[in-house]
Amino acid sequence: MDDLIKQAAEDLAAASKVTALTGAGISIESGIPHFRGKGGLWERFDPMEIAHIDALMRDPARVWTILIKEMKEIVDSANPNDGHKGLAKLEEMGKLETVITQNIDGLHQAAGNTDVIEFHGTFAWQRCMDCSQKYETRNVDISEIPPRCSCGGILRPDAVFFGEMIPQDALWRSRQIASDCDLMLVVGTSAVVQPAALMPVVAKESGAKVVEINPERTPLTDEISDYLIMGGASDIMNRIVAELEKIS
Ligand code: NAD
Ligand code: ZN
Repeated sequence: MDDLIKQAAEDLAAASKVTALTGAGISIESGIPHFRGKGGLWERFDPMEIAHIDALMRDPARVWTILIKEMKEIVDSANPNDGHKGLAKLEEMGKLETVITQNIDGLHQAAGNTDVIEFHGTFAWQRCMDCSQKYETRNVDISEIPPRCSCGGILRPDAVFFGEMIPQDALWRSRQIASDCDLMLVVGTSAVVQPAALMPVVAKESGAKVVEINPERTPLTDEISDYLIMGGASDIMNRIVAELEKIS
């Protein structure tokens, strides 16, 4: 393990264009549950069903009650952890340019990363389903569910639900950046949700090193990644940054 931390620090020191792809795992230590987590909401409901656009269109009040309300309470009070802060530190050190994230929680921006591609949109804003007017999520009054726009339309997160298209500019730019980088850090993603999981493949095929940080193996491990550093994002990022500071 120590060898892999050293290896990652050396690879970062040698790389000239580093990007990161992150998933729900990096936010777990900030108290935001991931879909495959044990306990609570995700075991009681199938996220593929409740977070599907068809469910939202069919019964917005139900999806607000089961999913969005709880998500708002969690995200409104969540703070970046050392995993997010480590990536912000890499940017501050002039090492990391862009974070491509599947997360909708805004924690990379809160940690200080300035170029964040939100592959699945954002939960920081709600959008009117009728007139597209946007409202900052933390200011939305949820005393009545579902909350409504001043035009009477129902509000929904400005995020991508299952069954919806990825924002085309996010997809296009992510592909560009993945094919342009020489090192991709893949942090806290199970790498099963497409097309995000394709980005490490694009990076690898363009000659980049791919380094995974995850407590578990993923479909990328041994196939696409050069190596997996097994562990939680906070601990591993702290150790990589400390090692990088020693050698640079
Ligand atoms: P996922 O739920 O499929 O996988 C999470 C991964 O994180 C797993 O591989 C797990 O082993 C790993 N993990 C667990 N603890 C970790 C830790 N401490 N540090 C690092 N990794 C850890 O997540 P996904 O791949 O992002 O795909 C799920 C989809 O759900 C995404 O599309 C995402 O948009 C959405 N989602 C987002 C949030 C959020 O915004 N925070 C939360 C839940 C789901
Ligand atoms: Zn409206």
